[in-house]
Amino acid sequence: MSSITVCARFRPLTSKEKLNGDADSVCIRCIDSETFVFKDDKDEELTFSFDRVFYEESKQDDVYQFLALPIVRDSVNAINGTIITYGQTGAGKTYSMEGPGILECDEQKKGLLPRVVKGLFDSLSPSDEELTFSIKLSMVEIYMEKIRDLFDLSKDNIQIKESKSRGIILHGVTEITVLDPAEALQSLSRGIANRAVGETQMNLASSRSHCVYIFTIQQEFSREKRMRSGKLILVDLAGSEKVEKTGAEGRVLEEAKTINKSLSALGNVINSLTCGLQGKTSHIPYRDSKLTRMLQDALGGTARTALLCCCSPSASNVSESLSTLRFGARAKHIKSSPRVHCIEEKSNTGSTASSPPGDEFSSRIM
Ligand code: ADP
Ligand code: MG
Repeated sequence: MSSITVCARFRPLTSKEKLNGDADSVCIRCIDSETFVFKDDKDEELTFSFDRVFYEESKQDDVYQFLALPIVRDSVNAINGTIITYGQTGAGKTYSMEGPGILECDEQKKGLLPRVVKGLFDSLSPSDEELTFSIKLSMVEIYMEKIRDLFDLSKDNIQIKESKSRGIILHGVTEITVLDPAEALQSLSRGIANRAVGETQMNLASSRSHCVYIFTIQQEFSREKRMRSGKLILVDLAGSEKVEKTGAEGRVLEEAKTINKSLSALGNVINSLTCGLQGKTSHIPYRDSKLTRMLQDALGGTARTALLCCCSPSASNVSESLSTLRFGARAKHIKSSPRVHCIEEKSNTGSTASSPPGDEFSSRIM
């Protein structure tokens, strides 16, 4: 059994926060690379420990090396992996995930995604001539409990199904085979641009939807009869802020409730998983939201999972930061059993993974 890797990241103060004088009221005090003291709105000091804490001077590569690289390496060995960014809007989730832009040229500023892409291709470079591999990429957005394909906006209600051999599947989602890192980044950039187009059409902000990046890595060894397949999922969650704070009304309020529903479903899944560990057997409510259903295997299952809790260091965001940190502290108790997940018989054509006979979709569809 292993635990979820949980890290906290405090971004630097924004220029607006500096102008507001927030520099004088930063709510955290660093103890070491794992522990810090957080001052809440009643001036009480709470000590938090995580697997690693990234302070404002931390580098994008530090986050990648600690949080993502071990998961990237495992995914190449067919152990599924999931990397999630959590926190209120403006806390640094997208900056950590993408960097200032997915095609960003400044090496230092590149986010997790471009580093994951490079890491995957570097780990797969065949030193062994008997090995052939392929990487497929899908990108979806979950908004108001609907899954939209970011590579094909006409697919705006993708269904989740379950296959005996391949686990949770997004039925009919576009999968792009990417042959090198440059091609992967171009595809990611297209998906991100599509996300913006859809958002303009629907008049919604990206902070109100969850963005999910899925890499499927397949490897075949010509000597063996079987092929290995690993999945690496990155999730940039919607902002976790409370509805009241945003002053939302009407449709925006309905949206916020639905977003909070999937985030509270995520919280409930985490609670149930940790209750189970305390000896109480409980039902795990994965089916309560699209998000938790998609992440079913990542949470307490067979995948290796890392959670980055992104926070503002400013005292003006203290209650949202505290709720993010408490979420992370709870998630730390989840245990999972990462294992080689998907080994399939080679199909007759020997290339792409076709479902083996008898691999029926489960009849229950969300
Ligand atoms: P979120 O996705 O959580 O809503 P963003 O990632 O968009 O938040 O970050 C909000 C702002 O803070 C952006 O302008 C971003 O460039 C900046 N920012 C976030 N994290 C960092 C960081 N670690 N270093 C520098 N700037 C950051
Ligand atoms: Mg964002």
